[in-house]
Amino acid sequence: MKHYVGIDLGGTYVKGGVVNENGIIEKFGRIPTRRSEGAECVLKDIERLISDLISDGGYEISGIGMGIPGLVDAKRENIVKAANLGWENVKVADRLKRKFGCPVILSNDANAAGLGEARFGSGAKYSSSVFLTLGTGIGGAVIIDNKLYEGNKSAGAEIGHMVIRAGGNRCACGNEGCFETYASASALVRETRAAMMEHKDSKMWEKGSIDNVSGRTAFEYYFTDETAKKVVDEYIDNLSIGVINVANIFRPEAIILGGGIAKQGKFLTDRVKLKLDAGIFAGKLGPEVEILTASLDEAGVVGAASLNIY
Ligand SMILES: [Zn+2]
Repeated sequence: MKHYVGIDLGGTYVKGGVVNENGIIEKFGRIPTRRSEGAECVLKDIERLISDLISDGGYEISGIGMGIPGLVDAKRENIVKAANLGWENVKVADRLKRKFGCPVILSNDANAAGLGEARFGSGAKYSSSVFLTLGTGIGGAVIIDNKLYEGNKSAGAEIGHMVIRAGGNRCACGNEGCFETYASASALVRETRAAMMEHKDSKMWEKGSIDNVSGRTAFEYYFTDETAKKVVDEYIDNLSIGVINVANIFRPEAIILGGGIAKQGKFLTDRVKLKLDAGIFAGKLGPEVEILTASLDEAGVVGAASLNIY
């Protein structure tokens, strides 16, 4: 059986694993991302992590894949920009190829995670799916015929920056009304806090302070507090607008939700599904689009490794 290394480069941690061709992680490791030390230091740390993972099990590696929080170049070998790390034009693949003697492929981290879910997670029984991670922003991945669709020079699938409201909330990307300014976890936290400030009688104040609010807070109080219910209902409305748009453009077999908010499970997916079925083009006359939640613990690592599996 072939083995691949998958690296998930995040702002806080670098996670890595030796993954077999069935998508099973056989060895796993995690190190802090020393981003204040700069790209060279982080890349050296990554090389050491890969060496440790491989030598531990005496693995022969058929490829290395890496999910990065940003934009990769057209050859999927280098990082063009990773805003959260403060990196621009960082060369990656050549040094890893030289050191480990195998192919190296980079992709955006959401693309990698989406590919992992599509091949080995919730999307495994479907050939087309769209993955949305509801986190600080909204990452997207489009999988068509079991392959990642990354757009021209790998710069597409930026579903979080689909505009869902003209003249809406200002986004970090510079536009207004982007999907992620309404349906990311950060947006939910922002709206929960705003609602609490407006409604001092809200039960959510049991949390003590708005500093203790997370993406879970409004969901926790959904059935006992009107303010919380309104926040969640509006959040789900906004999430559903984006989901309907995605469904109408790609008509995938499934849309898979990941990130912390997806932990709400059926409560969330049932409600989004109702709105999707009501809003999707041709309704029930067209093929159904399932709404699922992500199922892999380390989709980013598994997916990055599987960038090398065609
Ligand atoms: Zn944007």
